[in-house]
Amino acid sequence: MLYRLRHDFRLSIITMLGVCAIGGITPFAVFRFLDGNLLAGFVDTIILLGICTAMAYAWMTGDTRRSGFVAALIACGGGVAVAAVLGNIGLFWLYPPFITSFFLTSPRIAVIINGATLAVLVAGNIAFESTEHMLSFVTTALVVSGCAYVFALRNESQRARLEHLATLDPLTGVKNRRALEEELQAAVASQERNGLPFALALLDLDHFKQVNDDHGHSAGDEVLIDCVEVIQRNTRQADQLFRYGGEEFVLLLPGVEDFAMRSVLHNLHQALRRELRSPTSPVTASFGLALLRPGETADQWLARADDALYRAKENGRDQVCIAGEGTLKAEIAGVGLID
Ligand code: GH3
Ligand code: MG
Ligand code: MG
Repeated sequence: MLYRLRHDFRLSIITMLGVCAIGGITPFAVFRFLDGNLLAGFVDTIILLGICTAMAYAWMTGDTRRSGFVAALIACGGGVAVAAVLGNIGLFWLYPPFITSFFLTSPRIAVIINGATLAVLVAGNIAFESTEHMLSFVTTALVVSGCAYVFALRNESQRARLEHLATLDPLTGVKNRRALEEELQAAVASQERNGLPFALALLDLDHFKQVNDDHGHSAGDEVLIDCVEVIQRNTRQADQLFRYGGEEFVLLLPGVEDFAMRSVLHNLHQALRRELRSPTSPVTASFGLALLRPGETADQWLARADDALYRAKENGRDQVCIAGEGTLKAEIAGVGLID
């Protein structure tokens, strides 16, 4: 429970709103009923139940987008109802929702909710005692909302940036293994939905430990950076490259069928052979290829490419092996077939 609160910002805001509603509104609801103000007590109870239901829904389903939106609507709508029932004093209840709406929903939707709330209050002349009173409230509400908007926007852009950085490999700048897992799942889903073919290449540099041993770790790093550069120059923009581990990379090729896969990877293999060097000698790579089969999982797909790579290493390295069915295209030299 604490883990979810710590890691899900929106869930923590919904929970905070729920707890504040229970602690802050319940005494008022009880007081209003005891005081004989049944309408105000009823409005408080409805707001309390609405916010608690949104909170329970968020905890049970994890759908904080929908429950956050509903909680923001209830909080603002409830604030208007309280102001309508209690008059001037009820307006104070609108400041908390004006702030929390920016953290319960996206900043853009929060602007709409807050704007609509203010418009209803002004158009209905709800709870204002004079024009000056109305202008004071509208101005302070706009200042509060404006500050919350700027803060929420900044928070959102920083989170997006952190998420982006968390998916990148710091040395080569390509996506990392974490991003690969997501993209493989997306590819499997895309094939199930649209029948789009996908090819996967697992690439491992040969005798890379020797490069480090002979020339040092930073020379090895340079080779890894060069390797990425050669791969990117010899593939399409739609193809995605990931650093899978130390000197292992994964290339995901969308819309690519058997023949194109062989041809692209054969060319890439040759390009690396020609262009990739340590300070004193050429560096080669071994490849394992697999086309995505209908109905298989991302793990099974990757495991087949890994088997093919293992075979390429076993067969003497510096070659391309293919997992799966199909025949070797004789015109493409250097491509071996396993399975
Ligand atoms: P094989 O042909 O069987 O793949 O042999 P190998 O030497 O390439 O394979 P092995 O897995 O034994 O060695 C991989 C080496 O890659 C070991 C490790 O020091 C090196 N390595 C892993 N990550 C990095 C890195 O970020 N930079 C550098 N320079 N070296 C790395
Ligand atoms: Mg290696
Ligand atoms: Mg390796």
